[in-house]
Amino acid sequence: MRHLSCPACGSRVFFENYVCLACGAQIAFSPEAGLMAPLWGDGAVPACGNRSQFVCNWATSDGETMCRACRLDSVIPNLSFAGNLDRWRRIEQAKRRVVHDFMRLGLPIEARNSANPGGLTFHFLSADLAAAPVMTGHDSGLVTLDIAEADDAVREHRRAEMREPYRTLVGHFRHELAHHYFERLVLNSNDIQACRLIFGDERADYQEALQRHYQNGAPGDWQQHFISAYASAHPHEDWAETFAHFVHIVATMDTALDLGFADELSGRIVDPYTTEDFDALIEAFLPITAKVNEINRSMGQPDMYPFVLSEEVKGKLHFIHMIVARNARARSDAARAPEPVG
Ligand SMILES: [Zn+2]
Ligand SMILES: [Zn+2]
Ligand SMILES: [Zn+2]
Repeated sequence: MRHLSCPACGSRVFFENYVCLACGAQIAFSPEAGLMAPLWGDGAVPACGNRSQFVCNWATSDGETMCRACRLDSVIPNLSFAGNLDRWRRIEQAKRRVVHDFMRLGLPIEARNSANPGGLTFHFLSADLAAAPVMTGHDSGLVTLDIAEADDAVREHRRAEMREPYRTLVGHFRHELAHHYFERLVLNSNDIQACRLIFGDERADYQEALQRHYQNGAPGDWQQHFISAYASAHPHEDWAETFAHFVHIVATMDTALDLGFADELSGRIVDPYTTEDFDALIEAFLPITAKVNEINRSMGQPDMYPFVLSEEVKGKLHFIHMIVARNARARSDAARAPEPVG
């Protein structure tokens, strides 16, 4: 995340802020401009409709009641149940960060509606109220999240039970959106053959593969081939885990560069989200993770970055970088193309 400033007094403000703590100005993040804007006075922006309950601090645009991120919701938690408003706030906070990531990557964020039935939409469900068990997952643009994942104790319990080194709301959103972008960017493109060579054939039976994974666990040498044990379950999960990891890297590098953590290697990267230089990105990123892990250990905290990147995983990340960078170039070329005449 880049440094954000109060539009009234210039003090540093954070992505999650509703108010500047230095001058008291009411502020909202404009996702289109990538800046904090004032709610009153010169340059005022309209607030998202979810601001009233402190669910969302973004500005809206195009005459819409809801911001770019909140427009994607079609089922929100039942707020008459104790704790659900807090859970929803944490969920939306993580979701905004991830929507912002994908906008910076130049990927389309298009809400599902009658004109765009394959667009993105979110269902935030609670197991207490659902007729069937709630499974966090993705299905053709519909992302379902079990809202219990917003409870730290529940999520940590599940993380330990599944022997995962990392489980966060931000991670869930990056992973589920990765499935969406597989369908958007790869499935019907010329890249599908290369993708199958790298990640395996995603047409393999999914239920059978998952059942096998949960029964037998990951292969003993999974770390040489996959970013996580779960990625070994099925090519779809390998894609999603690796894509999510690519977003972890660019988002973390963006913050590190902004904070001045970077060393000479980072000089080759102006914007980690749009850089064409994959090798520089990885070379600059790994030493930062080693340093921050040491800092965390000094505080008795678990590692910030509990992953190892094998050469094969770097190859998979490189492929994803190529797909994302090419899409961003095509979209910016299309935006620059002159209007047809006649
Ligand atoms: Zn201020
Ligand atoms: Zn909003
Ligand atoms: Zn998945």
